[in-house]
Amino acid sequence: MSKTEPDKAEEAKPSKGRRPGPDKPAPDKSTAAKATKATKPEPTDAVEPDVYTADPVEVTREGAKDWSEPVGPLLRPGDGFDLATFDAGATPGWDGSEKDAERRMAALGEELSELQERLYAEGRSGGSRSVLLVLQGLDTSGKGGIARHVLGMVDPQGVALRSFGVPTLQEREHHFLWRIRNALPPTGRIGLFDRSHYEDVLVAVVDELAPPEELDARYGEINDFEAELAGSGTTIVKVALVISPQEQYDRLHERLERPDKHWKFSVGDLATRAKWPQYTQAYQRVFDRTSTEGAPWHVVPADNKWFSRLVVTELLTQALRDLNLGWPVADFDVDAARAALEETKDQGTTAS
Ligand code: AMP
Ligand code: MG
Repeated sequence: MSKTEPDKAEEAKPSKGRRPGPDKPAPDKSTAAKATKATKPEPTDAVEPDVYTADPVEVTREGAKDWSEPVGPLLRPGDGFDLATFDAGATPGWDGSEKDAERRMAALGEELSELQERLYAEGRSGGSRSVLLVLQGLDTSGKGGIARHVLGMVDPQGVALRSFGVPTLQEREHHFLWRIRNALPPTGRIGLFDRSHYEDVLVAVVDELAPPEELDARYGEINDFEAELAGSGTTIVKVALVISPQEQYDRLHERLERPDKHWKFSVGDLATRAKWPQYTQAYQRVFDRTSTEGAPWHVVPADNKWFSRLVVTELLTQALRDLNLGWPVADFDVDAARAALEETKDQGTTAS
């Protein structure tokens, strides 16, 4: 960990801009980082307080295998992307074993954890940035496991987790984005949406929960909404976990065979499963219409949980790296505070 010691931080020259100067190494030189930066519009209204040098987090990656190809761009659905022929059991970009993946996860976890703390510190110091991970996927695709195993690696105080179920009566009285706006992560936080506004163009489309024109308008409304979020400093990372019908069968079967998993089963899951082709079509349309430059989708093969967890850890870490976070410069006189503290040094330790 490269947490800057308070006295070291003072020696360091506070950099006005956030980006490391030419003498400083850029946080990540991978093609993935460059590709992500190239396609992301710069936030317009985001507030970024002055920081000490935004050096990349130092982590030991000894023995941790790297991707053969940057995974972010690899999983973005481009022209001609066809979900119907997608291989949910593949591990694109990863030649390593499951053990290799675990090692890389551990190394990334350290980095993610420090980046999260920097983001939180920035939020506490007047910054306005946040990161929102939007997780979609059919039942048993592993959304809960992502929350536990990926977000579980960082300080829970820095995470804002929200799950979206069938809208309540109150929610139904409002526009579909109303409950979403109310659930956005506070500044400095990593938000996780377990299901999201995309349910309103998935289950809502499959089950025809609104008139066709209204459903059709939602894709554009979602794009506008996400552009607005990006503009105000929220980096959106969109992930769809894709499992095969066979894998879902196995996972549902296990939920029925194991009494300790019965609580996870819902009879409604079978009704959803019966509409597999309709959901495939609805997801395809979501990717076709809402994978934008500022908020692209990542379609993640999720039959191997270790792989999907590694991918999401990687995407989230990269999103935070791209923010070039540093430690905020103190907004008080550090020397004066130190002197004032010294004056109190013996307080409470000697009998008066
Ligand atoms: P679970 O995530 O397994 O607890 O299930 C939540 C359920 O709520 C799923 O069946 C979703 O499809 C459903 N759901 C979530 N959002 C909406 C929505 N906007 N409209 C209708 N159903 C929804
Ligand atoms: Mg469920």
